[in-house]
Amino acid sequence: MGSTIYDALGTKTVINAKGIYTDLGGSILSPRVWAAVEDANRSFADLVALLDATGASIAEQLGAEAARVTPGASAAIMLGIAACMTGTDGTRMEQLPDSTGMPDEVLIQKPHRYKYDRMVRMTGARLVEVGDAAGSSEAQLADAIGPNTAAVFVPAHLDGRGGTVSLPTVAAIAHERGVPVFVDAAYMNYPTNLMGSFTTVGADLVCFSAKYFGGPNAGGFVAGRRDLVDAVAGIDFTRFESGDHLIFGRPFKLDRQTVVAVTVALDEWLSMDHDARFRGYARKVEVMRLGLDGMRGITATPMHFTMEESLEPSPVNCLVVRVDGASELTAAEIDARLRADNPAILVHLRDDALIIDVEVMRDGDEDLIVDRLRDVLSAPRRELAPAVAL
Ligand SMILES: *Cc1c(COP(=O)(O)O)cnc(C)c1O
Repeated sequence: MGSTIYDALGTKTVINAKGIYTDLGGSILSPRVWAAVEDANRSFADLVALLDATGASIAEQLGAEAARVTPGASAAIMLGIAACMTGTDGTRMEQLPDSTGMPDEVLIQKPHRYKYDRMVRMTGARLVEVGDAAGSSEAQLADAIGPNTAAVFVPAHLDGRGGTVSLPTVAAIAHERGVPVFVDAAYMNYPTNLMGSFTTVGADLVCFSAKYFGGPNAGGFVAGRRDLVDAVAGIDFTRFESGDHLIFGRPFKLDRQTVVAVTVALDEWLSMDHDARFRGYARKVEVMRLGLDGMRGITATPMHFTMEESLEPSPVNCLVVRVDGASELTAAEIDARLRADNPAILVHLRDDALIIDVEVMRDGDEDLIVDRLRDVLSAPRRELAPAVAL
């Protein structure tokens, strides 16, 4: 690999064999998405109109009433919860994160607590737990709802787990009491018809992260009820200078290029041949498996690395390279050597195994990884200088 902009800027280029991670930059934009970004860069657009138009297009694709691009799912949580607190009242939008005088409790079932729920609190809202670690009941949820309840928050990937009330029932209980339900479905994008299902079963707002569907790392969107999406539109970054209120959402600013990239990436995601995508993964994994065949000290097995970071048999998207006693190096030592080079090869290290995830590997990365691994495994003592951590 020739030298890259990253070398020029004083950092390493990374071969990403870990998958989609914010710290590694999310996804790579496809040629079609990149061409749309270049097109957007060539001229200006009215961002208020662009956000309305792209929102309408996203909503139509999902079968939702309305939608709006946001700078990621975390931002969508904040803006969407803020919208549940303020509605379209500009004075309230300006007052946040001081929530005096507005409903500011967001209910979450205790087993649903997860790392992104803190975004709720950044609006000034309070997260109120329902139930305990063993779960929560319909009665507990109903009792927790009162005049101060702004929303019920549900992380879709935890829906129904751990003795919790499932989304359709949560929605029924909340709606009976006039309270909206916000769903974080950041990565619940495959099968693709899943994306439109959350509003169907009762989410008033649902958010997705574009990093998981080939869009920009700093992109995402919120979809759902028109009045709430209108409130998000009132509270997000536009009109800070031109509107009547110095609204809360100004830091959640978007480039026109990002708005376009989110929209085109979603369109591509919804129309792509996903079977071909999985066949592509399996092919790269097979190239690596064959390339490492016969190397002493390792066993290589094609597997599926899940979004929850566990291993399942299929559909194949990774090669698990288990390092055994016949190897001179431990898995951790091999991992350190892969990281030390430029480009650095980043894989998952799990006990005595390396997990090489091909989902966002570029074509040809599989050959580079095989070459580098064969090098490391066949001449392990050549480079015992301490590996530089990345
Ligand atoms: C990545 C992620 C988010 C945050 O999305 P960003 O677009 O990176 O802000 C929220 N929830 C879940 C479950 C995620 O995986």
